[in-house]
Amino acid sequence: METNSQNQTDCFDLTSGLVPIEEAERRVLENIRPLTSTEIIDLPEALSRVLAKPAKSKINVPPHANSAMDGFAIAGKHLPSSGSKDFCIVGEALAGTPWNQRLDNNETVRVTTGAVMPSGADTVIIQEDVEVTGNVAVIRAGHRCGQNVRSAGEDLKQHDVAVAEGTLIGPAELGVLASIGIGRVEVVRKPVVAIFSTGDELKNAGEPLNKGAIYDSNRYVLMGLLKRAGLSVMNLGIIPDNEQSTLNALADASAKADAVITSGGVSTGSADYVIKALQQLGQVNLWRIAIRPGRPFAFGRIGQAPFFGLPGNPVAVMVTYYRLVLPALRKLMGMRNLHPVATLKAKAASSFRKKPNRAEVYRAVLTYDHDGTPVVSSTGQQGSGLLHSMSEANCLVLLDEDAGAVKPGDLVNIQMFDGLN
Ligand code: AMP
Ligand code: MG
Repeated sequence: METNSQNQTDCFDLTSGLVPIEEAERRVLENIRPLTSTEIIDLPEALSRVLAKPAKSKINVPPHANSAMDGFAIAGKHLPSSGSKDFCIVGEALAGTPWNQRLDNNETVRVTTGAVMPSGADTVIIQEDVEVTGNVAVIRAGHRCGQNVRSAGEDLKQHDVAVAEGTLIGPAELGVLASIGIGRVEVVRKPVVAIFSTGDELKNAGEPLNKGAIYDSNRYVLMGLLKRAGLSVMNLGIIPDNEQSTLNALADASAKADAVITSGGVSTGSADYVIKALQQLGQVNLWRIAIRPGRPFAFGRIGQAPFFGLPGNPVAVMVTYYRLVLPALRKLMGMRNLHPVATLKAKAASSFRKKPNRAEVYRAVLTYDHDGTPVVSSTGQQGSGLLHSMSEANCLVLLDEDAGAVKPGDLVNIQMFDGLN
């Protein structure tokens, strides 16, 4: 495979050798080896980390049968089948303060939501349905034995796996781990990802711009993407366009980090040194993919570190990151269930052009029309340098390699920027 890639480098041909995006996704993922070292950390620190061992519950959750409502606990067998019946109120159980006696026939205990069910009671009548006079509760017919009670272990049973190994810990998992009483968790070591930008034209935000220069935005985009994904970022700055600097930077980055991401310098222009450097230091597994934006994308390895050479154009950086880099980093982080990209269908409100033999991705805005149908329209100009359009968009329109042009009214696949997590 490396030989092929190198041949492609030597005899560059614009019309051939583009790897279809699905194949590129597969090839990147199969070349990633998950990190195996782990550490034990306090639960509040575990957000966005990956659980290294299955978390088994030592307890039932909830530990005791308890009331799901504020009301009156009784034995369901004493419910009246018609008319009403009087029950004597003999006590009160609050969440955290159980009532420790046993109910006799036709007795009831006032309970609040979460209170442990008094022994002898299996049914709760909500307080709104009960007429109380002094210490007598009048309960009418029409209730069901067992209602409004949460049984012990109905959320998790003792010995159940509460959170599986390889799960990315999100807010729900933090809560589930807390619900089984785990205060410290074993997680996979957080990968360190080295990033640098290539380009003689690049300046750091805050510096003056001379003629011909632009500000480096890609590194900021990548910092945001990586931090949000729960990775440590090693920021190696801007590397000028020459072979030696690129070699030095890549060698340094791959020695220090678990993965290396660069942007720019990965095409075939006279100032593009990334592929040459990668060939000298490691291997090129993949170069140039059939997607727009994102075509010059490269993937390889330097020593132990997977290498992602992203295009220079900022929109192409984001598109290739989401499609090819993020799933790979998740695998590196130890995640087991790598879900395919979640897409949904929306009705196109504008047309989208489509060239054959490549996938295309458009920045777009999803809204809803008067009858609630999701409709999606282009943000307008789609140049891959127009980063601002990524900020205006709330979704991407994904056109597969074999898709045709889209007319208004056609259904298209979209990928939302925001998901629940
Ligand atoms: P390249 O692939 O290096 O030729 O870059 C393609 C385009 O992306 C050029 O217009 C570059 O100026 C631009 N570009 C490259 N790197 C960055 C960056 N870090 N931030 C913003 N634009 C960039
Ligand atoms: Mg460049």
